[in-house]
Amino acid sequence: MPHRLTVITHEACALHRATYDHPESPDRLETVLSALEKAPLGEKPEYYQAEKAPLETITRVHPLAYLDRLKRACENGNYWFDFEDTFINEHTYEAALRACGAVVTAVDMVASGERERVFCPVRPPGHHAERETGMGFCLINNVAVGAMHAREAHGISRVMIIDWDVHHGNGTQHIFEEDPSVFYVSIHEHPTFIFPGTGRRWEQGKGEGTGFTLNLPLPPGSGDAEYLEVLEANILPAIEDFRPELLLISAGFDAHRDDPLGDMEVTEFGFYMMTKKVVERFESSGGKGVVSVLEGGYDLPALARSVEKHLIALTE
Ligand SMILES: [Zn+2]
Repeated sequence: MPHRLTVITHEACALHRATYDHPESPDRLETVLSALEKAPLGEKPEYYQAEKAPLETITRVHPLAYLDRLKRACENGNYWFDFEDTFINEHTYEAALRACGAVVTAVDMVASGERERVFCPVRPPGHHAERETGMGFCLINNVAVGAMHAREAHGISRVMIIDWDVHHGNGTQHIFEEDPSVFYVSIHEHPTFIFPGTGRRWEQGKGEGTGFTLNLPLPPGSGDAEYLEVLEANILPAIEDFRPELLLISAGFDAHRDDPLGDMEVTEFGFYMMTKKVVERFESSGGKGVVSVLEGGYDLPALARSVEKHLIALTE
């Protein structure tokens, strides 16, 4: 049975921009939305405007003092936050609240069983954001807030986050590394070669969370075959063992061979296959709701083709 896709985004996400040429540009969002319009998805997707995530929902991950600091920096007209590459402008605070709000609503929809496939094309992205530090173009960890919301508001006891952005999601890993109820899986370019320098194989969680972080670094030049091999050997068995009730995908597309920020050789077919296999195994392990959240992906034509293939696999 094909699934109808639900899309949650907000135009404020396109107002967040750098004052100089930056790869994480509003054009990315426009590209993704126009790819969505043209994608052969069977039934036309239904669109929702993202609300701002409530502060009490975000503060399960980021302290209020951090959010206040971010808000003030945006109001003050600062150009960047915590790191020079992590730009902000006067619209950033709203964009970040809406981006996070999209994921929170998506989690509400799938947790209640109303929807089964939700895509959040939002920016700023989230997976590098630590509890009290913005970095790597990320300010609020959208997926982490969504996972925490699933547990606290809906009593979901097993959430899996699969992150195939070419960069390791240091923020997401650190937020959940002591938490056995949220299993973080990341497949990424080996940290020796790329930002942020974390995500080695031996980082497997801490304390009660030991065994619930799975890092699968790959050498530069890895393509579809290498990704699918690691997926089959490591990720699919992890899904089967953990039996997640909710699957969140940190959907970055910067492992594409055309991407200027990564050194990988993945094609849109690779993203199609990864999505297909992950979702199939999730469903055969008893799961239903999938929320996919845009992270990176900086070559616009490659991003458009990859998102299209990802969404086809997500809904067919
Ligand atoms: Zn990335």
